[in-house]
Amino acid sequence: MSRYRGRFAPTPSGPLHFGSLVAALASFLDARRAGGQWLLRIENIDPPRCPPGAAETILHQLEAFGLHWDGPVHWQHERDAAYQAALDTLVDRGLAYPCSCSRKQWRDHALYPGWCRDGPREPGGPVAWRLRSDLGLRPIAWQDRLFDEQRFDPAALGDVVLKRKDGLWAYQLAVAVDDADQGITDVVRGFDLLDNTPWQRQLQHALGLPHPRYLHLPLIMGDDGQKLSKQNLAPPLPREDDAVRPLLHRALTALDQRPPAELATAPVADQLARAISAWDAGRIHPHPERSATGARH
Ligand code: GLU
Repeated sequence: MSRYRGRFAPTPSGPLHFGSLVAALASFLDARRAGGQWLLRIENIDPPRCPPGAAETILHQLEAFGLHWDGPVHWQHERDAAYQAALDTLVDRGLAYPCSCSRKQWRDHALYPGWCRDGPREPGGPVAWRLRSDLGLRPIAWQDRLFDEQRFDPAALGDVVLKRKDGLWAYQLAVAVDDADQGITDVVRGFDLLDNTPWQRQLQHALGLPHPRYLHLPLIMGDDGQKLSKQNLAPPLPREDDAVRPLLHRALTALDQRPPAELATAPVADQLARAISAWDAGRIHPHPERSATGARH
């Protein structure tokens, strides 16, 4: 049996749109083609950003597109103890520290200057927790499956926040811990997340966790030249079968998989079966952006 384990990890800040469909589909096809598992993780660590019902809508949307996940859904709001254990480990290793500074105090700097590294400047008040980027962490490099070698200097990344002053966990820590706990071997996600990868790899290194492989995907841009997103009101994915079929075909086209034209109205299961057997990530054109109609910017 294949040891491949992939995942789709949406933030339920609203329904999925065409851009998220392309990311979900690519990670699904990559996992299924490899005979591996495809897991679903709902990244709801920031409750104010997650309207009630949005996560359930996402599950229904994925099902309508035939993207059935393996095992139970992994919910980040249940993971407090795991994130705290990881933070405690980093603190024990001298790699994380409490910081009392507000963004306003260091607004003249591009990166947080590390003022609290030797203890909070204002002890006794609320603190955020930050990762030290100045302690012998090696340059971060990885071979992206689509975008070739990526290299980042830890010092240029700054001391990223792991836990916020309001007590909420930061995305970077949650993702690094969950990818490891879920045994993820392959991360397939949008290019907009590429510059988060160095922090996640730095955390994997600091916590002694394995590094997955990464494939970042071209971003789907709207007619206005902006990335499709909930903020610019990209239309939510439909759930009616007659609308789902052609959209699935378009998503496969956006991934350069060249689905046969006659499959555009075929049942979802038929389109997916063909797409799994024909999946070739190497066909995706490595361009950071492309329009929803397939043109490259
Ligand atoms: N939750 C993130 C998002 O919806 C994606 C996280 C990931 O794939 O690592 O943008």
